[in-house]
Amino acid sequence: KEWCHLIPKIELHAHLNGSIRDSTLFELAKVLGEKGVIVFAAVEDVIMKSGRSLPECFQLFDLFHILATDHETVARIAKEAIEDFAAENVVYIELRTTPKNNESKGMTKRSYMEAVIKGLRAIETVSVYFLNTDDSTDNSIEAIPTNDIHGAKKKNIYVRLLLSIDRRETTAAAMETVDLALELKDLGVVGIDLSGNPVVGEWNTFLPALTYAKEQGLPITLHCGEVPNRKEVQSMLDICPQRIGHACFLENEEWERVKSSKIPVEICLTSNLRTQRLESIDRHHFADLYKAKHPMVLCTDDPGLFSTSVSNEYYLAASTFGLSKGELIDLAQNAIEFVFASDGVKKALTDIIQAAKRELQ
Ligand code: 5GP
Repeated sequence: KEWCHLIPKIELHAHLNGSIRDSTLFELAKVLGEKGVIVFAAVEDVIMKSGRSLPECFQLFDLFHILATDHETVARIAKEAIEDFAAENVVYIELRTTPKNNESKGMTKRSYMEAVIKGLRAIETVSVYFLNTDDSTDNSIEAIPTNDIHGAKKKNIYVRLLLSIDRRETTAAAMETVDLALELKDLGVVGIDLSGNPVVGEWNTFLPALTYAKEQGLPITLHCGEVPNRKEVQSMLDICPQRIGHACFLENEEWERVKSSKIPVEICLTSNLRTQRLESIDRHHFADLYKAKHPMVLCTDDPGLFSTSVSNEYYLAASTFGLSKGELIDLAQNAIEFVFASDGVKKALTDIIQAAKRELQ
């Protein structure tokens, strides 16, 4: 496990509100409990429960959203989440979050995102590079120091943002999110995600916004096949997403399409196990995809909610599927190819992981 910690890692599937520190969650719940907004004892039980079902997880998200609805808290959880990922030797993260309107707090989707960005700017203990301007034409990208993987020096992390469309949203709200992503391109927003309760919402509601994003050159990643729904999986593949997440319930025919088009899969082992999408971890589709050398990346999904970490996901993959140290580093390195950042960032990441490879092997 310690060794997995040392690998410079790439996280491409993590939800902001699923990455709240337990201590922060309790603190926020306590304050709202004292104000009488929630019953703290009830919340405590839900937060402490392990092995939640999928519907229970979405209940918990509704609770998280009550806890983290003001701008100040949004900025705080964004700051802490990035500090925590950097502490894990994550060197590049695409953090995703659903921009939210909340009239009572004077919050719009835009001001929500501004709060997230404010949180990134407030980080002092870690060097955060989140502006898209550090692209291949900007030589400063090469100058970003390689992490001291043993942790003595200040960590460096690239942060990019994905804006999520929640499956509960209307077409208009989804379009608003895509417009916002386009407006915030220079502030680190690199793509669009579709997430939220997989049994809620109709594909045709989101399709116009996702098509619009693609037309505008914004890459998209979709939560795909979290529950059996062949028709929707096929429609998702029809729009050729740049990546898909989970892919737990795909039939052979769909797998063939994913494999022949080499669509990278964001693998969330602990999340899939905890939400009971499979009987046991050794039956996870990771094994088949790995054998087929299919592009994939190990991710946490919701490290707070599922009490996991990126290092833990690597350890789990290694211990379940018998991967060697070299294979684990290669897994991290292969993910560089399908990040939504510029070639300059990709080159810098390659240098970072190559350097670690020399040191660790
Ligand atoms: P937020 O977007 O509010 O920062 O992060 C929490 C949200 O991410 C949840 O409300 C939900 O919409 C989405 N989310 C987190 N984990 C999962 C998951 O495992 N599956 C799906 N479909 N959505 C998720």
